[in-house]
Amino acid sequence: MTIVLFAAGAERWQEYEAPLRAALAEAGVAADLVQGAPPETVDFIVYAPGSPLQDFTPYGHCKAVLNLWAGVERIVGNATLTQPLCRMVDPGLSEGMTEYVLGHVVRHHLGMDRYILGAPGWEQTVPPLARERRVGMLGLGALGLTCIRALQGLNFDVAGWSRTAKPGLDFPAFHGEAGLEAVLSRSEIVVTLLPRTAETENLLDARRLGWLPHGAVIINPGRGALIDDAALLVALGAGRIGHATLDVFRVEPLPHDHPFRHHPKVTVTPHIAANTRATTAARVVAENVRRALAGEPLLYLVDRARGY
Ligand code: NAP
Repeated sequence: MTIVLFAAGAERWQEYEAPLRAALAEAGVAADLVQGAPPETVDFIVYAPGSPLQDFTPYGHCKAVLNLWAGVERIVGNATLTQPLCRMVDPGLSEGMTEYVLGHVVRHHLGMDRYILGAPGWEQTVPPLARERRVGMLGLGALGLTCIRALQGLNFDVAGWSRTAKPGLDFPAFHGEAGLEAVLSRSEIVVTLLPRTAETENLLDARRLGWLPHGAVIINPGRGALIDDAALLVALGAGRIGHATLDVFRVEPLPHDHPFRHHPKVTVTPHIAANTRATTAARVVAENVRRALAGEPLLYLVDRARGY
């Protein structure tokens, strides 16, 4: 019997137990899903950051740690973790992120805040069509690409940026520092869907924020550390950035006295852009358990050196 240890927090057990049991059975895996077991007997660990399990050393028999979250910055540097680590690419999570990104891009594209807040008078400012609106996507991974497809479905003029070159895409795709300047300088709305790594920390600093067109909008559902908070506040104050819609922060929950709170040009959402959905994520976990047992390559294996 394969032992699968659920170490993703006791508070998630109720939500995940039934979907995981069903998905493991569906995948044809005879597994015992447990919340506790002698470490040397554990074959797989289902994990989420914040779990009390921080020392992986005794789990010498474990074939893979399967993270329930897309972001792995809180576990990837754990020196005791020598087992393969897989991140979550969940169709349900991707759907949620697409809805969040689409909703906020359309909101800013149409200038909806002005009317929701009750603009006085009768000033008829007709927005351009989506095909005339340039949107930049920083990050062309599972989430960035899915969001781009949805934005293309509404005719937005999209471009993207990633770490490595991606030839053959049907939109302008850039990489490297020169590519970042190219994508930012054309983006009236920029969306950041990058992981937090040593390389992406403070990616949008004062200099690079200056590459955006005057009045550009930033939507950040990636990670808080991607943006230099102080530089963003200066750029917002000067009107160089028109608005920032932020879902993720360096410190969460965002402290009540943080300048982003109550800033007229900042929308704060409390890390709700996209949640892992138990039913769809359980199938991903089960598929990886099946693969590992069958000697097949794992899905969504994290590259420790890269950090994502
Ligand atoms: P992914 O599939 O690993 O894609 C990451 C993308 O970022 C890739 O395109 C990668 O480039 C690019 N990238 C990484 N480092 C880079 C660098 N130094 N310079 C340029 N590009 C770089 O990740 P994902 O599933 O799309 O998720 C992205 C992030 O979204 C997660 O890491 C997490 O932080 C965040 N997230 C947030 C929420 C929320 O609720 N707010 C929910 C889920 C995820 P290559 O393609 O060249 O490798």
